[in-house]
Amino acid sequence: DAVVHWFKCDLRLKDNKALHLASETAKSKGVPLICIYIVSPQDFEAHLTSPVRVDFILRTLEVVKEDLAALDIPLYVETVGKRKAVEGRILELLQKWGASHLFANVEYEVDELRREARMVQMCLDNGIVMDVVPDTCVVSPGELASGQGKQYSVYSPWFRAWVKHVHENIKLLDLFETPEKNAESARKRFKDLFESSIPAAPENKKLSEEEKKRFRSMWPPGEHEAQERLRKFCDERLGQYGAHRNFPAEAATSSLSVHFASGTLSARTAIRTARDHNSTKKLDGGNQGIQTWISEVAWRDFYKHVLAHWPYVCMNKPFKPEYTNIEWEYNQEQFKAWCEGKTGYPIVDAAMRQLNHCGYMHNRCRMIVGSFLAKHLLLDWRMGERYFMEHLIDGDFASNNGGWGFCASTGVDPQPYFRIFNPLLQSEKFDADGEYIRKWVPELKNIEGNAIHDPFGRGKGDIAKKNGYPERIVDHKASRERALSRYKEGLGRD
Ligand code: FAD
Repeated sequence: DAVVHWFKCDLRLKDNKALHLASETAKSKGVPLICIYIVSPQDFEAHLTSPVRVDFILRTLEVVKEDLAALDIPLYVETVGKRKAVEGRILELLQKWGASHLFANVEYEVDELRREARMVQMCLDNGIVMDVVPDTCVVSPGELASGQGKQYSVYSPWFRAWVKHVHENIKLLDLFETPEKNAESARKRFKDLFESSIPAAPENKKLSEEEKKRFRSMWPPGEHEAQERLRKFCDERLGQYGAHRNFPAEAATSSLSVHFASGTLSARTAIRTARDHNSTKKLDGGNQGIQTWISEVAWRDFYKHVLAHWPYVCMNKPFKPEYTNIEWEYNQEQFKAWCEGKTGYPIVDAAMRQLNHCGYMHNRCRMIVGSFLAKHLLLDWRMGERYFMEHLIDGDFASNNGGWGFCASTGVDPQPYFRIFNPLLQSEKFDADGEYIRKWVPELKNIEGNAIHDPFGRGKGDIAKKNGYPERIVDHKASRERALSRYKEGLGRD
C-alpha cells in the first residue's frame, strides 16, 4: 500500500495542506508517501505558459525532489504527451505502486476542475480514494457570500467580509506541517523513483542559453528562496509598502508573485507572517503598509473567487457580458510596437521592455500598458492578456484575467469605461524623475528633466530621434476620443 500526493501549482513542502494530509494518512496507515508531478506539454500550450515559467517550475521541482529525498519520500516526475491522458497515467502509476489514496490541492480553472472530477471518478471506479482539498487561497471560493446570499462581484465589500471571516476563523491561518519522514525501507522499495530525473522542458518551451543565464540569476527557484524573500521583505520593506508600492523605480514590492503562482509560497504563510509583524496582531488596524500588503495579497484570493463563480471568464468572455460587442482593432503593426516597447510613450515602452527582459513587470506599469493597449490602441484586450501569459514568470490565469478586465473596463471593477489612464500623467506621477524610463529605454537616458516623459513634445525630439526612439504611434487625445465613442457604441449594441 502507499499514499500519493499529486503536485500541481503547490510546489512546496511547508504549509501545503494536501501534502500534509497525505503524510498524516500515510503515517496512520503505516505506509509510505510518494509524490508525483506530471509535465504536460499540451497544458503548457493550452495555458500559454511562458518558457521562463516552465523553466522556473522545472528548477523548483529539483528543489522539491531534493527536500523530499531528505525525508526518504520519492518525487516522480513524468512527461505525458497528451493532456487527456494525464488522469489515466496517474491511475496506472497508483495501481503499479499499490496506492490506496491520492491527495491533491484543488485548482479553480475550468480545465483543471474537470480533470480533477474525472480523476476522482476514475479513482472511485478502481477502489482508490481521492481527496481534493482547498489550499491556494486564504479564504477559499465558496466560503463568503454577501448578506443576500449572493456572490460578491466588487472587491471592497468582499475584502471587508474576507478580513472578518479570517478573524472569526483564525485557524484558517494555521500552518500545515511539513511531511514526516518515510520509513527507510521506502528507499529500497522505490529505488527507481528516487533515481529518476526531472524531464527537460518541452521543445517549444525551451529557453536559449542567453535567456537561461539571464532569468536564472534573477529568479532562484524553490520555497527556501521564497521564505527568505518573504522574511527580508517583511523585515525591511513591509512597513513602508503603502507609501512606496506605486513607484516602479523603487524596489518597494515583494516580488513574491512568482512564488505565489508556482505555489513555492502559500498565501496563508504570507498573510500569517504579515499579521505577525502588525502591532495589532490582526489583519486590520496598526501599520498602514502591512494592511495595504495584506489587501493586495487578498486581491489574488478575490480573482480566484471570481474565476470559481463566473467560470465563463476562462472562455475568452468578458466578465461584463454587455462589453461583448465592442469593436476592437486588430492592427498588427501597433500590437508589435506595444510588444516590443516602441510605442513612443516612454513609460509604456519602459514597462514592456522590463517584461521582455525580466519576465516580470511592476503592477502600476501593468495597469498603464494594459489601459494603453485596450483604450489608446483599442486592441482586443485578449491579445494583451495572451502576451502577458506568454512572457510572465508569475503568469496566473485568474490574476492576469482580472487585471486585464480592470484595464479594459470589461471586468469586475465597478469603475466606468470612461476612466482612461493618461500615460503622460501616470509617468509624471509615478516615475517623476524618469529613473525607471532611463533604466529600460536607453535611447532616452541622456534626456534630462521632465522631457523624459514626452521627448518629442518637450523639445528633446532630436536626441530621441538620433538614438532611434520612435515618435508616438497614436495621439493621446484622438485615441481617447475614439475609445470613448467605440465603447459607447459597443454598449449600445444588442
Ligand atoms: P506585491 O505588491 O508585493 O503584492 C503581493 C502579492 O499580492 C503579489 O505577489 C500577488 O500575488 C498579489 N497581488 C498584488 N496585486 C495584485 C493584483 N492586482 N491582482 C492579483 N493579485 C495581486 N499577478 C500575478 O500574480 N500574475 C499575473 O499573471 C498577473 N497579471 C496581471 C495583469 C494585469 C494587466 C495587471 C494590472 C495585474 C496583474 N497581476 C498579476 C497583479 C500584480 O501586478 C502582480 O501580482 C504584482 O505586480 C506582483 O508583484 P509583487 O509580487 O512584487 O507584488
